[in-house]
Amino acid sequence: LFAGQCDFVKGVVAMSGLPDADRLEICFAGRSNVGKSSLINALTGRKGLARASNTPGRTQEINFFDLAGGLMYMVDLPGYGYAEAPLAIVKKWQELLKSYLAGRQTLRRAYVLIDSRHGVKAVDHEIMKLLDRAAVSFQCVMTKADKPGAAELERSIAKTAEALKQHPTAFPEIILTSSEKGDGLATLRAAILTLSQQ
Ligand code: GDP
Repeated sequence: LFAGQCDFVKGVVAMSGLPDADRLEICFAGRSNVGKSSLINALTGRKGLARASNTPGRTQEINFFDLAGGLMYMVDLPGYGYAEAPLAIVKKWQELLKSYLAGRQTLRRAYVLIDSRHGVKAVDHEIMKLLDRAAVSFQCVMTKADKPGAAELERSIAKTAEALKQHPTAFPEIILTSSEKGDGLATLRAAILTLSQQ
């Protein structure tokens, strides 16, 4: 799935710009700076594919990538909780995110990224609630697992697992990743591959 080409298809700023819902779709969501671009780049082995949220341009859009020559769309959602953006812009992103998560028929699974050091924040709960309401199953991916010490990491995993219990559409299993060290990438790739085969 990830061995073949993975190409940028388009960046979308409004629901009207979405590509046809004609194939399976998965998406990645997370707070700004959670390590979403790094993870997408590490997963695909393409360094510049997804750009960091703090680079202007593509990342305030919903970015569509083609996986395995048309087999599925991998979608990079705009990072949320970015305090420095003007309120009007934040509102616009939130609306787009909401509409997308609630209204995309082909969206099979969301991966909600949580920073290993910071755990689940209020804005993460908001996104998870949207997914619950839209009945989109989601799995939590903890990022930057190389950063905290072992004890801190254990605590963070336990807290996150506890937080997920509030959300009916959450998978209980958490995928622990480090884009830097490569941990968990194979597990995440396998999870996505399994979806494509169902
Ligand atoms: P985004 O805003 O969610 O796309 O976040 P980025 O992928 O741009 O990452 C934000 C910052 O975290 C950057 O400075 C990255 O180098 C760093 N980062 C991302 N992933 C990892 C990781 O697995 N380990 C470590 N140590 N740093 C990471």
